[in-house]
Amino acid sequence: MLLQNKKIAIVGGGPGGLTLARLLQCKGLDVKVYERDINKDVRIQGGALDLHTKSGLAALKKAGLINEFKKHYRPGAELVRVVDNQAKIYSDQHTENVTQNFGDKSHRPEIDRGPLRDILLNSLNPDTVVWDSHILSIEKLQDTWKLVFHNGNIVIADIVIGADGANSKIRPFVTDIKPFWTGITMLEGSIKDAEKTAPNIHKLLKGGKIFAYGNGKTLIVSSKGDGSFGFAASCKTSEFWYKESGIDFKDNKQVLAWFKKEFSEWSDVWRELFESEKTLFIPRPQYCMPLDQKWEAQSNITLIGDAAHWMPPFAGEGVNMAMLDALQLSESLTNPAFENTKMAIANYEKQMFKRFAKVGQGTLFNTEWMHQSNALNDMLTMFSKNTFKQILFISKMWRSVTLTPFIRRIIGLPPKQSALI
Ligand SMILES: Cc1cc2nc3c(=O)[nH]c(=O)nc-3n(C[C@H](O)[C@H](O)[C@H](O)COP(=O)(O)OP(=O)(O)OC[C@H]3O[C@@H](n4cnc5c(N)ncnc54)[C@H](O)[C@@H]3O)c2cc1C
Repeated sequence: MLLQNKKIAIVGGGPGGLTLARLLQCKGLDVKVYERDINKDVRIQGGALDLHTKSGLAALKKAGLINEFKKHYRPGAELVRVVDNQAKIYSDQHTENVTQNFGDKSHRPEIDRGPLRDILLNSLNPDTVVWDSHILSIEKLQDTWKLVFHNGNIVIADIVIGADGANSKIRPFVTDIKPFWTGITMLEGSIKDAEKTAPNIHKLLKGGKIFAYGNGKTLIVSSKGDGSFGFAASCKTSEFWYKESGIDFKDNKQVLAWFKKEFSEWSDVWRELFESEKTLFIPRPQYCMPLDQKWEAQSNITLIGDAAHWMPPFAGEGVNMAMLDALQLSESLTNPAFENTKMAIANYEKQMFKRFAKVGQGTLFNTEWMHQSNALNDMLTMFSKNTFKQILFISKMWRSVTLTPFIRRIIGLPPKQSALI
């Protein structure tokens, strides 16, 4: 086998890196995951994730972990209520016959990030993950890589896989292609003990998800198994709004004042999300890698997940793509048909580029319409049972989005007007 007796260093222990480690260990390979967090409990893991049959779930199935997943997912947490800015319900999956069958393409079971991470961590051989390993840089030696960590440790590896997320330190050693600004900033929040802290939204949420739209703004709320909420308010801003606005995001009074002003047309009920002193906020400007990105494969380094194809989260594809990358890369690297690792990596990257071009376009399409004034109507069409209406909508939006400055920039046409902003 190509990787027999090779040391494989996966940088980053997110869903992509851990899935890859598990899949390679299942083939008996020598893998370490170098993770920046000082231990597994140091950081609250973000909101809930829905895994898709042909990507996230397919990777878990191949990793032999689907039964573990079934023990820990939260049936019903994927059910969506679509509401307007006054919290009026327009579509409610709680009252519909939504499939709960594993294997159905439209089944999207939801799991919290913490339990997903635990399933993956518990499946690995002891000491696979080397915590407190914040990578600073890597250096190419002859046929190997020298990895240099913040804590002074140095490691030599035969093959490096960058799974270190959006601001990857490994990516510059693979490509100099940079992400572009999408025109949207998302303010992520997390509320503990949500039933007490935000009782009205808690009732509206009903253990599932809320997609709220109005005035070109979006608010997405999702429940978590520990009684907390994850939520994200997003709108069009300038690229450096998080700095230029002067808001101290650790001062919740300032954040509430911003929300009242920016979401002034929205019902007061949403303020519950912003009123608690204990809510944690993180501003997240949204970038996307160019959809036509490509690079020449190397023999002993590649990227998976957000490090390879960072995109906004408005299509719920990021984790699924990271896990599918892990599956496709592990299959390529262990496929005896390839004569060398460069050919195996090239085969994986070819699939990944093609998939990202499609999924990324769908993601930008969602990013765009979710922040337009008619977003609610569009969302209702997406959720409608009328397939004909859905096809018409998708083809109309697809055509319009492919002509936006957004896409013009990606495909190299000169801009006609500014993008979303
Ligand atoms: C608010 C929000 C909501 C989202 N919602 C969804 C959703 O509903 N569905 C969905 O599919 N996706 C969603 N996403 C996107 C999803 O979180 C990412 O696409 C996914 O986590 C990517 O997985 P990854 O393993 O590639 O990277 P990450 O999850 O980012 O993991 C990278 C890991 O690398 C570590 N790391 C980083 N730098 C270093 C370093 N220098 N040295 C060592 N380790 C390092 C990090 O600590 C981390 O553990 C959302 C994202 C956000 C921000």
